[in-house]
Amino acid sequence: MKKTFVTKEKLEEIARSYPTPFYLYDEKGIRENVKELYDAFSWNPGFKEYFAVKATPNPFLIQILHEYGCGCDCSSMTELMLSEAVGITGHDVMFSSNDTPEEEFKKAAEVGGIINLDDITHIEKVEHVLGALPKTMSCRYNPGGLFKISNSIMDNPGDAKYGMTDGQIEEAFRVMMDKGVEEFGIHAFLASNTVSNEYYPMLAKVLFELAVRLHQKTGAKISFINLSGGIGIPYRPEQEKNDIHVIGEGVRKVYEEVLVPAGMGDVALYTELGRYMLGPYGCLVTRAINEKHTHKEYIGVDACAVNLMRPAMYGAYHHITVMGKEEEPCDHLYDVTGSLCENNDKFAIDRELPRIDMGDLLVIHDTGAHGFSMGYNYNGKLKSSEILLKEDGSFQLIRRAETPEDYFATFDFCDVLKNMKY
Ligand SMILES: *Cc1c(COP(=O)(O)O)cnc(C)c1O
Repeated sequence: MKKTFVTKEKLEEIARSYPTPFYLYDEKGIRENVKELYDAFSWNPGFKEYFAVKATPNPFLIQILHEYGCGCDCSSMTELMLSEAVGITGHDVMFSSNDTPEEEFKKAAEVGGIINLDDITHIEKVEHVLGALPKTMSCRYNPGGLFKISNSIMDNPGDAKYGMTDGQIEEAFRVMMDKGVEEFGIHAFLASNTVSNEYYPMLAKVLFELAVRLHQKTGAKISFINLSGGIGIPYRPEQEKNDIHVIGEGVRKVYEEVLVPAGMGDVALYTELGRYMLGPYGCLVTRAINEKHTHKEYIGVDACAVNLMRPAMYGAYHHITVMGKEEEPCDHLYDVTGSLCENNDKFAIDRELPRIDMGDLLVIHDTGAHGFSMGYNYNGKLKSSEILLKEDGSFQLIRRAETPEDYFATFDFCDVLKNMKY
C-alpha cells in the first residue's frame, strides 16, 4: 500500500491557509533520498548529481539539493537563469540542450556551465557565438537501435532525436581537440523511468566502452561520464522501488571492469536525475467538489490536467489516496476528473477507491517531478501554489498560486480587465 507523507489533519491545516489545489513537497524525504544517492556513489570521488531543473523548477527545492552538492542540469534560458539565481554556476551547471538557440549557448557559457553538445553541427555554432570553444566540452551519444535488458526492450534510442552517432562523436572529439578543447565528457539518456536496478549498470557499460574507444582512438582526455536521468520510481503500488545502493554497486562493478584496466580510473561520474530526486516527495492535493452519476460514476475535483498533465498526456498512473479513508474498502469504481473541456482530463479511470464524499481531500501521489512543471493554462485555468512541508512539521509557501492578473499579464487590452474583480 502506498502511504502519504502527510496526515489528513496537517493537510486540512495547510488548506486553511492555502486553498486546494496545491502541490506539497516533503523536505524530510527529499533530504534522506539525496543523502542515499551520494552514499551509493561515494566510491567515485568526483561523483555529482546535476538535478534536472525541468522536472521541478522551484528554487527553494533546488537550494535544498544544492546543500548536498547537487548542481543543475539545464536546457533552456530560464532554467539557466533559475540556476544562476540559486547561486549554482560554473561547472555545477550542465547545459544538456537540443535544438539549441544561439543565445542559450551564450548564456550557458556566461554562467560558466559545461556545454553538452547534442549534435556535431553545434561545434561551429558554439564557436561562432563564443569566439572560441570552452576548454571543457561534453557530447551526447545515441547508439541507435533498441535498448534492451535481457529480452525486454527498455526504450528505442534509434527513434530518439537526441545525441550523436558513434562516427559523429569521434569526429566531434577530433575537431574539438584541434580547436583547443582539453577535457571531455560523454553523456547518454537511453531509457526513461526505468524501474529496474539494471538500467544504470547497462548504460554505464555502453558509455564506459565508448569512452575507452574514444580515448584510444583520439587520445582525448575524458574527465567525466554523465549517466543522465532515467532512474524511475514505482508509480504503481505493486511495483518495487529501485535500490540505489544496488545500482551504485552495479555501476562500480562495470567501472572496475572497463575503465580501470584502461587506465581511466580517475573518470568522474555524473547523473542528471529528476524524477528519482523529487518524484515521490511531492503530491498534488485536491478536493472532491462534484459527483456525477451517468453512464459511469464520476468524482470531480478542483485540480485538473493543467495542474498535472501526465495522466492526460501519457495515460500515466498516479496513485490516489482519499484522506481519512485509508483503511476503508475500495468498493467504488470511479473516474476522477478535472474540469477541462477535454475528455482526457481524468486523473484516474475505473479506479477502485473508497466511497468519496464531497469535500474529501484527495492526494495524488508521486507528482514531485514532471508534475507542476508540465502545467499549462488551457481553458484559462490557473497554476496552483507549491508548498514545502518542513522537517519540523511547519509549512512554507514556495510558490503562490496564479491569479487572473498573471493570466492576463501578457496582453494590454483594457483597464476593465485589469481591474476586474474575481
Ligand atoms: C529530462 C532529462 C533528465 C531527467 O530525466 P528523469 O526522467 O527525470 O530522470 C536528465 N537529463 C536530460 C538531458 C533530460 O532531458
